[in-house]
Amino acid sequence: MMRTPNLEAKLALLMSLAGDDREGLPMSHLPPRLRHANDVGALRPLNLRPVRLGRGGPRTTLMRILMTNACSFNCHYCPMRRDRDMPRTLLKPAELVRIFLAAVERGWCTGLFLTTGIPGRPVKVMDDLIEVLALLREKHRFAGYIHVKMVPGADAAQIERLTALATRVSLNLEAPCGDTLARIAPEKNLETALVSLERVRERVNDRRDEEREGRPRDVLHPGGVAGMTMQFVIGATPDTDRTLLDKITALYSARGIHHSHFAAFRPIRNTPLENVRAAPAVREQRLYQADYLLRDYGFAPREVVYDADGNLPLAYDPKTAWALAHPEHFPIEVRTAAREQLMRVPGIGPASARRIVRERATTQLRGLADLRAMGVVTTRAAGFLTLGGRRLQNVRWSEQLGFWRPDEDAGAYHIQYEVSPGTFR
Ligand code: SF4
Repeated sequence: MMRTPNLEAKLALLMSLAGDDREGLPMSHLPPRLRHANDVGALRPLNLRPVRLGRGGPRTTLMRILMTNACSFNCHYCPMRRDRDMPRTLLKPAELVRIFLAAVERGWCTGLFLTTGIPGRPVKVMDDLIEVLALLREKHRFAGYIHVKMVPGADAAQIERLTALATRVSLNLEAPCGDTLARIAPEKNLETALVSLERVRERVNDRRDEEREGRPRDVLHPGGVAGMTMQFVIGATPDTDRTLLDKITALYSARGIHHSHFAAFRPIRNTPLENVRAAPAVREQRLYQADYLLRDYGFAPREVVYDADGNLPLAYDPKTAWALAHPEHFPIEVRTAAREQLMRVPGIGPASARRIVRERATTQLRGLADLRAMGVVTTRAAGFLTLGGRRLQNVRWSEQLGFWRPDEDAGAYHIQYEVSPGTFR
C-alpha cells in the first residue's frame, strides 16, 4: 500500500523540485541559494495550511510560499530584516510555479498564498510576483484561488496587473498611524501604502460592480474579487485598540476590503525590539472579536467598549463588555426578539440567531436544550435571556460572569507564530 507522505516529506520533495525537474533530488544538490531552506530560523519558504475560503465557504488547503526571506528593509520587529544575520533563500518565479503546480497535481493543495521579503527595489519584486501569477494563470491556466501580498512602492501599472491576476490582494499596513509606523519600520510610509491600497480597492470595486451587473467572472483574471485584506502588528507601537479600530472602520467604509489581520508583536532575537515585551495573544483575539462585531454583528464603532487607556478589556470578549455596560438591554425574550437583538447576546452568533428566528416561527421553543441544539452557547447566553417571560437561569447575568472562562471565548483564530508577524498573513 502506498503511504501518504507526511508534511515534512512533502515539503522536502517540493523544495527539491525547485532545483531540478527530477523528483527526490537531495537538498545537497540544490543551488546554493536554496540550500538553507530547511535550516532552523531560515523561515521555511513553504507550508501547507487548511483554510476556509470566506465565512461558511468551502474548506481547502493553501500552499503558502515565501518567495524569499531576503529583505533590504530593516523593520525593527521582523526576523527577516536586513541587518539580522540568518540564512537566506530565494525561489525564482519559474521554480515557485513548478513547486506549486506539483503540489496541486498531487492533491496536496488547491490554492496559493504568495508573499515575499523585498530584496532590492520593490518594483523588481513586484515584477517577480506578477511573473508568478502570469505564469500560473496565462501559461498553465490555473483557475484556482491565489492570494498575493503586495509590496509597498509598486507602481500603478504593476498594481493593476497584479490585481487583475489575483483572487485576493493583501497589504501590510503594520500600524494605524504614520508616526508610529516610522518608529518600527523606518523605510515604510503609511501614506504610500494607503495610495497602493486605494489603487487595488478601486480595481476590486470595479470588478465587483461589473459582476453585479452581469459580467461573467474571468477565472484567469478574477480582479481581486475576493476583496482585500490588510495586516497590523499589535503592541509594537503605542497605538491603542481604539485608534486601530477607528482606522480600520474608516478603511472598510469605502468597500473592497474583506477583513483585517492582527498579529500580536513578539520580540525576535537580534532585532532592535528584542527586549520589548510581547503583546498578549489575547489582545490579538479581542481585536479579531471586535472586528467581527463591527463587520458582522451590526455594532457601530462608538458602541465598542474600551478601558480608560483606549484598549479593549482583556478579561471579557468585546460583546460581553458591551452587554455589561448596557444592562438596560437585558434580559432579551427569545420568542419575540429581533434577530439583531439576539445577536447582541453573548453566546449567540449570527447563525444561531438566524436559526432561532426560523425555528420559533413553527416550533414552540421550550428550554435550554432547544437553544443548545441551535448552536447557542447556553452557559454564556442563559443569564441574558427569558423564554415566555421566565428567566432561563436563576443566576443573574452579572453574577454569571464568575462562571465563565474568558479564554474559552477567545474566538476561532488559532494563534500560531511560525514566522514573522509580517510574513504569512
Ligand atoms: S516586515 Fe517585510 S519589509 Fe519589513 S523587514 Fe520584514 S520582510 Fe522586510
